[in-house]
Amino acid sequence: MTAPRQHAIVIGSSVAGLLAARILSDHFERVTVLDRDSLPDEPEPRKGVPQATHVHILLRRGGLILEDLLPGFDVELAQAGAPLINWTSDFVYFTPAGWGPRFPSTLTTRGGSRGLLEYTLRHRVAARSNIALEARCEAIGLLTNEDRSKVTGVRLNYRDRTSDARSNLPGDLIVDASGRTSHVLDWLTDLGYTPPAETVIDSHLGYATRVYQRPPHFAADWRVMMVRARPPYGTRGGLIYPIEHDRWMVNLGGAGDERPPTDDPAFVEFMRTFIHPALYEAIKDTEPLSPVYGYRRTENRWRHYEQLTRWPENFVVLGDAAYAFNPIYGQGMTVAGLEAQALDRWLRTAQGCLDFQKSLAKVVRLPWLLATNEDSRIPGVEGNARPNRLDALLQRYIDEVVWLASADAVTFETFVRVSHLTAPPTALMQPHIALGVLKRWLRRLKPAGQSTDSIPAAPAARLPAG
Ligand SMILES: Cc1cc2nc3c(=O)[nH]c(=O)nc-3n(C[C@H](O)[C@H](O)[C@H](O)COP(=O)(O)OP(=O)(O)OC[C@H]3O[C@@H](n4cnc5c(N)ncnc54)[C@H](O)[C@@H]3O)c2cc1C
Repeated sequence: MTAPRQHAIVIGSSVAGLLAARILSDHFERVTVLDRDSLPDEPEPRKGVPQATHVHILLRRGGLILEDLLPGFDVELAQAGAPLINWTSDFVYFTPAGWGPRFPSTLTTRGGSRGLLEYTLRHRVAARSNIALEARCEAIGLLTNEDRSKVTGVRLNYRDRTSDARSNLPGDLIVDASGRTSHVLDWLTDLGYTPPAETVIDSHLGYATRVYQRPPHFAADWRVMMVRARPPYGTRGGLIYPIEHDRWMVNLGGAGDERPPTDDPAFVEFMRTFIHPALYEAIKDTEPLSPVYGYRRTENRWRHYEQLTRWPENFVVLGDAAYAFNPIYGQGMTVAGLEAQALDRWLRTAQGCLDFQKSLAKVVRLPWLLATNEDSRIPGVEGNARPNRLDALLQRYIDEVVWLASADAVTFETFVRVSHLTAPPTALMQPHIALGVLKRWLRRLKPAGQSTDSIPAAPAARLPAG
C-alpha cells in the first residue's frame, strides 16, 4: 500500500472493524471507525449485531491475539466478571461416543457474553488517541477518483441529522468490515467492477438461545456443558456457557428439520430430545432471564476476492463481509484477529490491495476447511460441499478421533486444541492418535466411550492458567 498514510476509514465497529482499527492506528495518523448503529455505554447486545444475543466463544487463539494487540484485555474481562474456562477440566462434553475425559491442562479461555467482549474491545480501541468512533453514521457508497481506479473516501448518511445528513469523508485507505450484510458487492458493481464469485455451504443450522441465572446452590463442578449429536446420530445439540454475573447462556442448535424452537415450553422440551438428558436436567427448573432468541443465517460464505484481476486501490474488505463461517465452530472473532494480523503484515509491505485480499484467502483457508468439512456431513447441506475421496477418508478418520477422544486424554486435548486453532489439524495425525485410529479400524470397534450415564468427575489437581 503506497498511498499517503494520513487517514484510514473503517466501515463497521464490530469485532473485525475494531481490530482492524487497532492495527491501522499503528500505521496511519488517524483512523475513523463508522457504524450505522448506536453504540451502547454498557456491555449489552445491540441491533446492528443481531448475533450478539447468542453464545460467542472466544477461542484460545483469538484470546491470545486480543491480549497481544491490547495487553490487559483478559484482566479487564475478568474484572467485569467473565469466568475462566479450562477446556479439559471445566468442560463436560457428551458426543455419541460418550462423555469426554476430564484432566488438568493449561488450555484456558475467558468466557463472557458477546456484549461484554465487544464493549471491552470498543472501549480499549477508542481509548487510543488517534482513533475516532462515529456512531449512527452509515456508509452508503464509495467515493473514487475520476477513472474509478482508486477509492478516495466514503459517502455517509448521519442517521440523526435532519439537515446535512449526507456528506463525504475522504480517506487514504477504506476498510469494509460491515459484516454479512455489507453492501460491498453493489458498491463494486456500481463502480464498474466485477463482483467476486461466492462459495456458499449451508447446513441450515438454526440457533435458539436464552439467558438463565445460574442457580445459587447449583452443585456442579463444571463450567461448560455441551451435548451434541453428530451425523449419522442427528444434528441436535446444546451448550451451557458461562457469562458474567453468574449467568448461563443456553444455546440450542439443530440443522434442517431439527432446528430448535423459539417458544416456551418447547425450548426446554427440545433438550429432552438430545442424545443425553444432562442439559435438560440442568436447565429444567432454572428461571430464565431473557426471551428465546432465534437465528438462522448461519451459512459458510466465501467471497473470492482473491480470484479477481481488477480491484480499486486503497480499498480492502475483511471480517464477515469477506468470509463468514457457520458460527457453531466459534471461529468468526478469532478469524477477525488473524485477519487483523494479516493487515499489519500487509501494511508493512508496498503491495497492492488485491495482494491483501489474496493473503487473507490463505489466512482463512484452514478455519474454512474445518467448518465446511464438518458441515458437508450434514444431510441436506447445500452448496459445493460434496467431499472428494480424500475428504471422505479424512472425515472417517475424524470420526474415529472423536470416539478415541472420549477415552483418551491426549486425543481429547489435541482435538480441543485444533478446534481452538492453536494446533494444526496435522496434530491429529501424531503417532499416538494415528495408531489408536488404526487399531479401531482394524478391530472394527463398536462405538465405545465412557459411561453414558454420569458426568465424569473433575480432576483433583488443576494446573495454573496459561
Ligand atoms: C449466531 C452467531 C453466533 C456466533 N458465535 C460465534 C462464536 O461463538 N465465536 C466467534 O468467534 N464468532 C461467532 N460468531 C461470528 C461473529 O459474530 C463474527 O464473526 C464477528 O462479529 C465478526 O464479524 P464482523 O465484525 O465482520 O461483522 P459484524 O459483527 O456483523 O458487524 C458488522 C458491523 O458493521 C456495521 N455496519 C453494517 N453496515 C454498515 C454500514 N453501511 N455503515 C456503517 N456501519 C455498518 C454494523 O452495525 C455492525 O456493527 C457468531 C455469529 C453468529 C451469527
